Amino acid sequence: HGGGNEKIRVFCRIRPASRTESAQSETVVVEKVDEFSVKVETSRGDREFQFDRVFSSEASQTDLFLDMSLIQSAIDGYNVCIFAYGQTGSGKTFTMVGDKDQKNPGIMPRTFNAIFDIITENRNKFEYRVSTYMLELYNDRLQDLLVTPTTAAGSSAAESQQFQAAAHRVEIKRNRKGVVFAQGAEKKDVSNARELYALFKQACANRHISATMNVESSRSHLIVGITVESRNLTNGSVSSGKVSLVDLAGSERAAKTGAKDHQLKEANFINKSLSALGDVISALSAELPHVPYRNSKLTQYATRVKNITNIAQRNVESKEIAHLKEMIVKLKSGQTLED
Ligand code: ADP
Ligand code: MG
Repeated sequence: HGGGNEKIRVFCRIRPASRTESAQSETVVVEKVDEFSVKVETSRGDREFQFDRVFSSEASQTDLFLDMSLIQSAIDGYNVCIFAYGQTGSGKTFTMVGDKDQKNPGIMPRTFNAIFDIITENRNKFEYRVSTYMLELYNDRLQDLLVTPTTAAGSSAAESQQFQAAAHRVEIKRNRKGVVFAQGAEKKDVSNARELYALFKQACANRHISATMNVESSRSHLIVGITVESRNLTNGSVSSGKVSLVDLAGSERAAKTGAKDHQLKEANFINKSLSALGDVISALSAELPHVPYRNSKLTQYATRVKNITNIAQRNVESKEIAHLKEMIVKLKSGQTLED
């Protein structure tokens, strides 16, 4: 933020056809053209979209992680945010978290390992402190996933949860240096990847589950923040960086999912936060002086992106962002990309 190296990169990953889709011989309409572009078949002909990088349906979790690994940057004191955007079923959770039995771990568990691998390598030169918080943003309310709701004797589960919610109010704040943080969130120190992963499992167990489309947790955003503070043992200088990993709620519209009442309310909040995210991306990519971070909790939190990799800047970038924005608008208004 304010610096010259702030940048957003947009990657596209094509999900392989599921067993059902293959069985019903559905046709694949998205195709990787080259490392930087995809072709989408629409009723009005083919359209091509540009990205910073395109991963075909054959790309492994390892391919993806190595290519977007910004972990060293966070350890060097930068703020890095990686999030997955797309409709329910498009592969966000697979990409960010991995599959159920963790045979194919995603970006989050790989990040946990990568952080401590780098730390171990540099232990003779630096002293580190790693801490984490894990939140769920559901109906525009932040819930602390590291606080397990417990039922106090003599009170109902609902009462007890309400009490805890009041006691653990999490709010998004910005400090004098302009760094955004989650005030009131339970922050836990961790000393190895195993501890971090154990907290993550606990956090996942504390999430809201909605039966919509039989995909758990697709109606809320999952936010994992990992702060790495380091002290140079030679000169005593200190720095602090952060990785934020976000698995966004599905971008589809309520009308399409047949949702009603409370589900509609959910969808409205999801749409509100995703549209605020679209506005922030536009403002950042157009380098507007005012970026509307404050319009939703999601953007207050998730969009301070610093990107410090060596990948050369290409002038197609703003076009890519415009395409993403266009896709977001379409998906949000309930259209498919072919419309
Ligand atoms: P989302 O989180 O966007 O709703 P999921 O990550 O749950 O979508 O993916 C939907 C289904 O597709 C899951 O069963 C998931 O395991 C599978 N899937 C998604 N991406 C891939 C991939 N790259 N390779 C194999 N299976 C995938
Ligand atoms: Mg998901």
